[in-house]
Amino acid sequence: MHLNDYLKKAKEGNYAIGHFNFATGDVLKAVVAGAKEAGAPCVMVGTSEGEADFVGLKEAVALVGAVADDMQFPVFLNADHFKSFEKCKAAIDAGYDSIIADGSKLAMAENIAFAKQVTEYAKSINPDISVEGELGYLKGSSEVQTKIEISPADYSKPEEVADFITQTGIDRMAVVFGNIHGIVTDQVEKLDIDHFSKIVAMDPNPSYVLHGASGLKDEDIKLAIYAGIVNIHFNTELRVAYHNKLKEEFSDPTTSNETTPYKYLGPAAEEVKKLVMTKTNLFMGK
Ligand SMILES: [Zn+2]
Repeated sequence: MHLNDYLKKAKEGNYAIGHFNFATGDVLKAVVAGAKEAGAPCVMVGTSEGEADFVGLKEAVALVGAVADDMQFPVFLNADHFKSFEKCKAAIDAGYDSIIADGSKLAMAENIAFAKQVTEYAKSINPDISVEGELGYLKGSSEVQTKIEISPADYSKPEEVADFITQTGIDRMAVVFGNIHGIVTDQVEKLDIDHFSKIVAMDPNPSYVLHGASGLKDEDIKLAIYAGIVNIHFNTELRVAYHNKLKEEFSDPTTSNETTPYKYLGPAAEEVKKLVMTKTNLFMGK
């Protein structure tokens, strides 16, 4: 089965497939082990443009292939928020399973042209590559911030989303309805489920994707899945968990002089695995 088949099954079963980012092999293995142990049917792993530069496109493809084979579990590699045709093409040529052609900062017409170009190229190489487009301005970055102004004016507009899907032929659609990238410490993050339902009502066909799940309440995530979200990006909290464990080890006198990488990276990766299990259970409706 390919990614789009898994997403279709998720829609029928009212659950969501998790998407987690990685930049190192230990985190990748922790993510896959966590998703598998929690009983997910598959997992999506992503590299942002920066993470892909760090890992290497071919290296990411080879790593994911080896881990999937070793763990006997379906893992799909996604180019997360790639912003130019050249970058998307490079990921497709390297063997990525999935692409997010992120033209959300472009004007509508340019965003459509970009997503369409990437979709046509991807499908010409391999029809099973799953392509995601994005419409609406998703604020923030994958970090901990104090406050971000979220205005309904930034939300994806239902008519525009439907038009975008028809014109581009994308498989998945990232939409904005109160979600942001990253975590904010001084405000409550809240999804506008009614708004999302209006988007789905206009075109129920694509797989709708929620970005920026870190910082959201479990209840909001459940409602979003119930309303039609089938794929959820969860990243910032994973980074924080990994970072905090490393910080703890390096500040504890009994472990701070440890120089063997797998001895200090192992416990940090274990934190990632635990969090992936918790979130996968939530996405699976458990
Ligand atoms: Zn994202």
